[in-house]
Amino acid sequence: MYDTEVTVVGAGVVGLAVAARLAASGHKVLVLEKREGFGLETSSRNSQVIHAGINDPPDSLKARLCVEGRSMLYQLCQAHSVGNRRLGKMVVASTEDEVPRLEVMCARGQANGVDDLRLLTRREVAVLEPNVRAVAALLSPSTGVVDAWALMRLFAAQARDRGATLAFHSEVVGLGPAGEGWRVSVLEPEGAFTFQSRTVVNCAGLWSDHIAALAGIDVDQAGYRLHYCKGEFFAFTPRPDTRLDHLVYPTPEVDAAGLGIHTIQDVEGVSRLGPSIEYVDRLDYQVDVSHREAFLQAARRYLPGLEEADLSPDFAGIRPKLAGPGEGFRDFIIRHEADRGLPGLVNLVGIESPGLTASPAIARHVAGLLQELEAR
Ligand SMILES: Cc1cc2nc3c(=O)[nH]c(=O)nc-3n(C[C@H](O)[C@H](O)[C@H](O)COP(=O)(O)OP(=O)(O)OC[C@H]3O[C@@H](n4cnc5c(N)ncnc54)[C@H](O)[C@@H]3O)c2cc1C
Repeated sequence: MYDTEVTVVGAGVVGLAVAARLAASGHKVLVLEKREGFGLETSSRNSQVIHAGINDPPDSLKARLCVEGRSMLYQLCQAHSVGNRRLGKMVVASTEDEVPRLEVMCARGQANGVDDLRLLTRREVAVLEPNVRAVAALLSPSTGVVDAWALMRLFAAQARDRGATLAFHSEVVGLGPAGEGWRVSVLEPEGAFTFQSRTVVNCAGLWSDHIAALAGIDVDQAGYRLHYCKGEFFAFTPRPDTRLDHLVYPTPEVDAAGLGIHTIQDVEGVSRLGPSIEYVDRLDYQVDVSHREAFLQAARRYLPGLEEADLSPDFAGIRPKLAGPGEGFRDFIIRHEADRGLPGLVNLVGIESPGLTASPAIARHVAGLLQELEAR
C-alpha cells in the first residue's frame, strides 16, 4: 500500500540518528536530503561540544534529551571509535556579581541530573587554568567535544547497514495526507516524482517550519516560525599564555540567546572562539572580519593574554531558533501531529543547541512516538 514506511526529511545529525534508530527496529526508511551529501548545514557548523545538561531548565526536553544524549553519545563514541575528548568545561565568573549566576547554573544542572558539578574558588581556577582570570568558576567535568563528521558517518553507515536508503539531491517540495499515510513530492535533478509513505519525520533543521507549512500547519498559529540566529567563529593558535586544558565559557547573561563567546577545541586540538549571536534574515555563512575586535574584547575578560593578531576568521553556523530577539526560553518541538488531524507526521522544529549532543536521545524519543502510533 505504501512505497515506504518512514520518510525522514533531512540528513543532518538528527535525521541520520533517527534513520539509524528506526531502521534498527525493522522499519523501511527513506532519508531525503536536498544537498549533495549529508551534514552540510548546521550539523557541520557548530561547536561540536558534548554538553553536560546545565544550560536549560529542568523538565524541558532540551535538558532531558541533552543529559540522556550525552551519556548515549559517549557510549557510542567508545563502542565505534568516534573521536571525542572529555575535556571538561569551566564557566568562569569575571566579577563577584556573576557568582550568584554560577550558583543558579550549578543548582539547575544538578536538578537536571548532572551529578559531577563543582564550584571552584579563584585559587582552584588558577591551579587548573593558570592563563584564565576569574574570581570563581563552575566546573563541569563531563562536558567534552566530539567529531561531528565521524558521528554522522557512523549514523549514516548504521542506517544503510540496517536497510535504510539515503537519497541526496532530493528536495521535498510537497507533503499532504493521503489515506492513512502521506503523499511526498520530491524534486531531483532528473525531475519530480511523488510517492506514498506511511509516516514522515521532519528533521529539516533551518527549513523545518517550511516543511511543517507544506503539510498544512499554520506555523505562526502553531508557534513553529523559525528565526535565524548566526554564530561566527574565529580560530586562534594558543601561545604559552593562552593555552587552555578545558573549554572555558563566560557566565552567560540571563535569558541570553547563546552562551557567550567561549573557547572551544575540536578533537584535533584546533582552538576557536565563538559563537557570536546575530539574528539575520537570510542564510549567509560568511564571517565578517570586522567582528574580530568584539570577539577579542569578549574573550580577554577571562583570557587576558589574547592578542588581536591571534584571531583569524574561521566559519559560521546558523541556529534554527524558535525564540526571536529578546524572547525567553523556547524548548525543542518534537511532536506527533495526530491531534491536528495529521497522524503519521512527526515534526522536529527549533532543534538548536544541544541538538548535536541530544541526537541519539532525540532519535529514541521519535521512535517512541512512532511506536505509540503503531500501537493504536
Ligand atoms: C553556531 C552553532 C553552535 C552549536 N553548537 C553546538 C554544540 O556545541 N553542541 C550541540 O549539542 N549542539 C550545537 N549546536 C546545535 C546543533 O548543531 C544542531 O542542533 C544540530 O546540528 C541540528 O541538526 P539537524 O539534523 O536538526 O539539522 P541540520 O544539520 O540543519 O540538517 C537538516 C537537513 O535538512 C535538509 N533539508 C532541509 N529542507 C529540506 C527539504 N525540503 N528536502 C530535503 N532536505 C531538506 C538540509 O539540507 C539539512 O541537511 C550548534 C548550532 C550552531 C548553529
